[in-house]
Amino acid sequence: MPQNLRESYDVIVIGAGLAGMTAANTLARAGRSVLLVEQHSKPGGLATWFRRPGGHVFDVSLHGFPVGMIKSCRRYWTAEIAASIVQLKHIRFDNPQFTLETTFDREDFTRLLVQRFGIPPETVQAFFDAARTMNQFDDPAFSAGQLFEKFFPGRSDVVRLLMEPITYANGSTLEDPALSYGIVFSNFMSKGVYTFQGGSDRLIRLMQEEMQRNGVDVLVSRAAEKITVENRRVAGVTVAGRTIPCRAVVSNANLLGTIFQLVGEGHFDADFAEQARAVRLNNSSTQVYLGLKPGVRLDESVCGDLLFCSTAPAFRTDWLLSREATSRTFSFYYPKTRPGHDRCCVVASANARYEDWSDLPPEEYAARKGVLVENALAALEKYLPEIRGQVDHAEASTPRTFKRYTLHWHGASFGTKFEGLAVSRAIPEQIAGLYHAGSVGIIMSGWLGAVNYGVIAANDVDAFLMK
Ligand SMILES: Cc1cc2nc3c(=O)[nH]c(=O)nc-3n(C[C@H](O)[C@H](O)[C@H](O)COP(=O)(O)OP(=O)(O)OC[C@H]3O[C@@H](n4cnc5c(N)ncnc54)[C@H](O)[C@@H]3O)c2cc1C
Repeated sequence: MPQNLRESYDVIVIGAGLAGMTAANTLARAGRSVLLVEQHSKPGGLATWFRRPGGHVFDVSLHGFPVGMIKSCRRYWTAEIAASIVQLKHIRFDNPQFTLETTFDREDFTRLLVQRFGIPPETVQAFFDAARTMNQFDDPAFSAGQLFEKFFPGRSDVVRLLMEPITYANGSTLEDPALSYGIVFSNFMSKGVYTFQGGSDRLIRLMQEEMQRNGVDVLVSRAAEKITVENRRVAGVTVAGRTIPCRAVVSNANLLGTIFQLVGEGHFDADFAEQARAVRLNNSSTQVYLGLKPGVRLDESVCGDLLFCSTAPAFRTDWLLSREATSRTFSFYYPKTRPGHDRCCVVASANARYEDWSDLPPEEYAARKGVLVENALAALEKYLPEIRGQVDHAEASTPRTFKRYTLHWHGASFGTKFEGLAVSRAIPEQIAGLYHAGSVGIIMSGWLGAVNYGVIAANDVDAFLMK
């Protein structure tokens, strides 16, 4: 344990994902003493990257986020971070129902829905307006599937255009509440899809520098083992066997892990514990990372930035999640994405169920990862026939990988389903000084949702400390 830690802190933040780092930075800026504890060897959580021999750098979750990230980063991080957020202009779809390219904003989607899909303009407008006015107080029993049936009955092609990218963006399905779809879809439709120029490594480095300027103490490679609660009030956090006293805790760890492992259900009311037990985790992902040989340049006019492709005849949640899924998103990274770096790479992402991967014996697990790589290459050959000879490095990650590096239960890529939000927000009513910030309820997940939830939690903690 480093010697230069304080005896106690105003706030200990557990987990250096985007929500945890944003909460820590916001509180330190407000003059609070903050310790940020991260179990992995580097901050970032799922907003992470890794390097491989031969000069390859792969981003894990930098595929695209809504424009709102610029405002949030300018306000709660730095002007330099905000200025590095740039638009991805070429989003492509290729499936048995349609092939098209779009800038993925309201204007272009209106054009496509009216001209290409033959939907009356007033229906398109009514749909956009309905999606935009949705909020978290709407009836959660009204599902995304029902929303589509209301506006586009029997149009599975339209449903696919509207839903498939959002399923990748936050794991939501046709069975999830329409409001969680509507809020995220409208965020993207306001101005399209954005990325961070310089990659996740640059973003996290800039965030670390800003936290240092604001005086956050950061401990990496140290798991928080326990949150100490006395008389229904936070008293400290145990790290490497030492309990560090604090007045408040923000947990950026998995919601269920926070309640049932870090605190222990005996500290909560029985009905709250029951409500928490009923929270469903969101699904997970597989990814295939393909690093191209030096000098190989991808043709942007062929690949674009993001390609949603599938050979499935229609959009169905179970097909998207299955181990045999043919639906995947290809993210193409060019040297301009990472100025100063001369390599191209491709990442193929697909939704996945933890239980399809959790118990595989080592040999079968390795073989199935090989199948993931092979299937991604086979799918990519349709667009880049030479790709096999151009790949220098290929590897796959699974739900087990995400669990291993973030401790998220079931390797959930987007935290919990919608009902997790109410549980997350109610924690401080159970234990004074304990807050949760991190992927819950679809709306509060993804890069933008996580940053914004970090700010919300920080403001709540600041108000609590002022009492
Ligand atoms: C494959 C994939 C692709 C994605 N693509 C996108 C995308 O294109 N756009 C987008 O907006 N979002 C995307 N996401 C989602 C996005 O990355 C996450 O929603 C977001 O980064 C989550 O941030 P967070 O702060 O909630 O938590 P996390 O990033 O999960 O961070 C939690 C942190 O807590 C730490 N931790 C856990 N337990 C402990 C403990 N006991 N002690 C100390 N530390 C602990 C973990 O190690 C981790 O660092 C993707 C996710 C995945 C998996």
